[in-house]
Amino acid sequence: MNRELKPHAIFIAYPLQGHVNPSVHLARKLAENGFTITFINTQYVHHKSSRARGGNNIDDDIFVDARKSGLDIRYATISDGLPLGFDRSLNHDQYMAALLHVFSAHAEEAVENMLKSGEPVHCLIADTFFVWPAELAKKFGLLYVSYWTETALVFSQYYHMDLLRKNSHYDCRDPRDEAIDYIPGVKSIEPKDLTSFLQATDTTTVCHQIIHKAFEDVRGADIVLCNSVYELESDTISALQPKIPFFAIGPVIPFGITKNIVPTSLWAESDCSQWLDTKPHGSVLYVSFGSYAHLTKNELTEIANGLLDSNVSFVWVLRPDIVSSNDLDPLPAGFLDKMGDRGMIIKWCSQMHVLRHPAIGGFLSHCGWNSVMESMWSELPLLCFPLYTDQFTNRKLVVDDWKIGINLCDRRVNVNKVEVSEKIKRLMDGNSSSKLRDNIKHLKKVLVGALKSDGSSEKNVEQFISDVKVMISKKCQEKNGQETQ
Ligand code: UDP
Repeated sequence: MNRELKPHAIFIAYPLQGHVNPSVHLARKLAENGFTITFINTQYVHHKSSRARGGNNIDDDIFVDARKSGLDIRYATISDGLPLGFDRSLNHDQYMAALLHVFSAHAEEAVENMLKSGEPVHCLIADTFFVWPAELAKKFGLLYVSYWTETALVFSQYYHMDLLRKNSHYDCRDPRDEAIDYIPGVKSIEPKDLTSFLQATDTTTVCHQIIHKAFEDVRGADIVLCNSVYELESDTISALQPKIPFFAIGPVIPFGITKNIVPTSLWAESDCSQWLDTKPHGSVLYVSFGSYAHLTKNELTEIANGLLDSNVSFVWVLRPDIVSSNDLDPLPAGFLDKMGDRGMIIKWCSQMHVLRHPAIGGFLSHCGWNSVMESMWSELPLLCFPLYTDQFTNRKLVVDDWKIGINLCDRRVNVNKVEVSEKIKRLMDGNSSSKLRDNIKHLKKVLVGALKSDGSSEKNVEQFISDVKVMISKKCQEKNGQETQ
């Protein structure tokens, strides 16, 4: 029975760029390995990515090309609970509140309708940050695979939130500032390197409610898949495994291919390759703070002036809402004139495409996990300026543990143009960054190795698929048994 089983999974992606990207590629990877996938995006993400490609087509389907290549991936969209035109960037907490309180009803309706249609469905794959999948899967007799798109070290912090509470490092009036040395598999981590939510003193925000509830829900998962690599975080992952079936299967984004067969960008991509072609090898700094976090006007000004003072060439992705969607022209007066041909400002790009260009020599990054892995793959050392959420922990991994990047400044409020300019020069100078470049070359080999047929991530994907098939067969037998009783 196992050999014949074609598992069908409903895959619900978290509606943020940094989650949609790795979700689409996990869906593709599983379909390549014999799964049928019904991939569900929110209508908002669907419309935004469709518009980014110049279309406005309600029937647009991001998996058309994947299907043409023979993969069985179906595509559906559901509401996140808010009207399409609602500004989710400006009203972030309301957006999160909709995901916390309303989205589950839409997800449940979609799952129920699919089951009612008679389509055999075995499994629900959903982002760990959703607060309801384990409960929903249980209700409909589905296997639940939780997908964690960040590092195992961040998963472990949230998973052990109670330990942090017990030791007065979290959720107390006056959190301790001594290093944390009691999380299983984590030798030591400073409070400043915890995720921003775990450093906060107000733990009642909507994001905290999401994290608290999501990490209760994940305890009901049958399996957790993590977009990291065993060799990068072996101690943390080994310590999680006895508690919860945890498979590191990253990096799932197929960095090796030059053409993305599943379009995912939520903003229109600019092409800067012609401009980059005119620049010397390794001379250009790529600057991006991802899809989600915001800079303050002061931070933006200091970074802009530091870039000018450094005399280094740069491509800067300035998302239209980088400060706020109420401030669409946040650069200091005269910046563009002073920049001239030394820099290029774009709203969005195909990041992997740009990072691969030989003219790029370094990455000033907010340290989103996808960006860190993309930088590793492109062998580019990082200048780290974490802003929010897991980015502080990622900076610790990049700067302290793996030594593939340098820190811009200790605290966001301290950022100033002199330091920005000096650190940029240090990063882009081949001599002062040679050790970082050696280390990152080594890590690239680790990523490549993990994806070889005998590599850790590929073997974990194989093991995952075989375990899922056994679990599905068991569930089918149980169901058949119940029906014949
Ligand atoms: N990205 C992109 N074009 C850009 C900036 C970012 O395609 O101009 C992609 C990037 O390659 C990555 C994702 O957006 O896959 C951002 O995810 P990350 O985890 O780095 O940060 P987040 O946006 O979640 O903060």
